[in-house]
Amino acid sequence: MSKFDFDLFVIGAGSGGVRAARIAAGHGARVGICESSRVGGTCVIRGCVPKKLLSYASHFAEEFEDAKGYGWEVGETRFSWPRLIENKNREIDRLNQVYLRLLDDSGVTLFPVHGTLLDSHQVQLGEDIISAEKILIATGGHPWVPDIPGAEHSITSDEAFHLESLPGRVIVVGGGFIACEFAGIFNGLGSEVVQAYRGDQILRSFDQDVRDTLAGEMEKKGIEIRLKTNITELTRHADGQITARFEDGSELQADTVMYATGRVPNVRSLGLHAAGVHALPGGTIPVDEYSRTNLPNIFAVGDVTNRVNLTPVALMEGHAFADSEFGGNPRPVNHDFIPSAVFSHPPVSTVGYTEEEAAVHYGKLDIYKSVFTPMKHTLSGREEKTMMKLLVQASSGKVVGMHVVGMDAPEIVQGFAVAIKSGLTKQQFDDTTGIHPTAAEELVTMRLPVQG
Ligand code: NDP
Repeated sequence: MSKFDFDLFVIGAGSGGVRAARIAAGHGARVGICESSRVGGTCVIRGCVPKKLLSYASHFAEEFEDAKGYGWEVGETRFSWPRLIENKNREIDRLNQVYLRLLDDSGVTLFPVHGTLLDSHQVQLGEDIISAEKILIATGGHPWVPDIPGAEHSITSDEAFHLESLPGRVIVVGGGFIACEFAGIFNGLGSEVVQAYRGDQILRSFDQDVRDTLAGEMEKKGIEIRLKTNITELTRHADGQITARFEDGSELQADTVMYATGRVPNVRSLGLHAAGVHALPGGTIPVDEYSRTNLPNIFAVGDVTNRVNLTPVALMEGHAFADSEFGGNPRPVNHDFIPSAVFSHPPVSTVGYTEEEAAVHYGKLDIYKSVFTPMKHTLSGREEKTMMKLLVQASSGKVVGMHVVGMDAPEIVQGFAVAIKSGLTKQQFDDTTGIHPTAAEELVTMRLPVQG
C-alpha cells in the first residue's frame, strides 16, 4: 500500500488538468483534483466556448444583410443581449456538468477548493491536507491589465461575458487573439468599436499578409483600428461613461473599455516556494518536454507553463504526461506545426511558419498567394475577400506554412494541418483533387508562385 493518499494530485480542473486526471485514472492511478473556480477551466467557462457562441451570435447581422442578394426579404430584426447571455450561461452550465460527470465516471476525487503546496508531496485543501506521490500543476492563467490610473474602470474578457447590457461604444485595447475576437463580436452585435493597439499592425507574430488583410477587413466592417497608441488614463463619470486619454493627449468616450493585453500564470498562493518548484519572475513554471518541473515528482501543463497557450495543447500535454507517468508509455510533447485560429470577423487560421520565420528556417521559399471573393459574396454583394497563402521550401518542396483569412478558415486549415504536420510537399497538394466549388480547393490548385 502506498504511503500517499493519492498516486496523482492535480491542482486545477481546466482542460489540461482534467484530461491528465482522467487518463491517469484510466491507467489505474488513484487520482485527486482540486479546483477553486468552476470545473472546466478558462476554455469552457470564460474562454473559447462562450467566445465562440458570442461570435456566432454576432455573425447574424451580416447574414440578414447577405440574405437579400439571395432573394430573401428579412423583416425587422432585434437583438437581445440578456437573452444571448442567459442562453450562453445555460450551455456553460451544461458543459460544466459534463466535466463533473467525466471526472466522477473516471473515479477521480474532486475537491472544490483552492490547493496550496505545503511541500513537494502535501497539498493544503481548505482544512484538509492530502499527500500525493506525484503532483501536476495545471492552474492556467488570468487576464493581465497594465497598471494605469483608472485601470479599475476597465474590464477584461472575464467580465465581458457577463455584462448586463451591450455597450453602445467600446474601446478594445490590444492587438492579439482576444482583442481581435471581441472587436468583431461587439461590432457584429451593433456596438461602435475602437480597437487601440500599441504596435504598427494587429496580430504581431502572425504572417504580415494575414495582419494586413485582417485589419483591412475589420475596418471595412466599421471597426476603427488605432495603431501605435496607448491609453494613459481612464476616468469614470457619474453617468457611467468612461473617458480614455491617449498618449498624444486625445480623448475618447466609451461605455466600456476592455483590455485584452495578455494573460499571466495563476501561481498566487500555490505554495511554489514552499515546495521548491522553480518559477520565472512572471510566474511561468518552466518544464521540459515531459512537462517535468525542477522537482522529480512535480509536473506542470497548460498555460501555467507558457509554452503554446491553447486548449488543445494543454490537452495534449496533460495526456502525454499521464501516459508517460502512469501508462508505461513515456512520450514527449511535440509543439511543432500547431494549427491555431483567431475567431475574428472574418476568421484567421494558420499552421506552420510565417513568411519571415520560414525564410530563416528553410532558406529560399516559393510563395503562393491568392486573394478572391468567396462565392457566397458574389450574390450577397458583400465586399469581403479571402486571402490564402502557402509557403513552400524551394529545395524540398515541403509546405511549411499555410495562412488563411476568410470565411471558414479554421475549418479549412484543421484538415490541411494533418498534411503539413506530416511534411507533405506542394506536389502532393497538387496531386490532390479539389472539391468544387469550395474555397478550400484553392489550396490544391495554386500553380504559380508569386515570388520564388
Ligand atoms: P496576446 O498575447 O494574443 O495579445 C496581447 C496583446 O496585448 C498584444 O497585442 C500585445 O501587444 C498587447 N499588450 C501587451 N502588453 C501591453 C501593454 N502593456 N500595453 C498595451 N498593450 C499591451 O494575448 P490575449 O490576451 O489576446 O490572449 C492570451 C492568449 O490566449 C493568446 O496568446 C492565446 O494563446 C490564447 N487565446 C487563444 C485563442 C484562440 O485560439 N482562438 C483565443 C483567445 C486567447 P504586442 O503584440 O505589442 O506585445
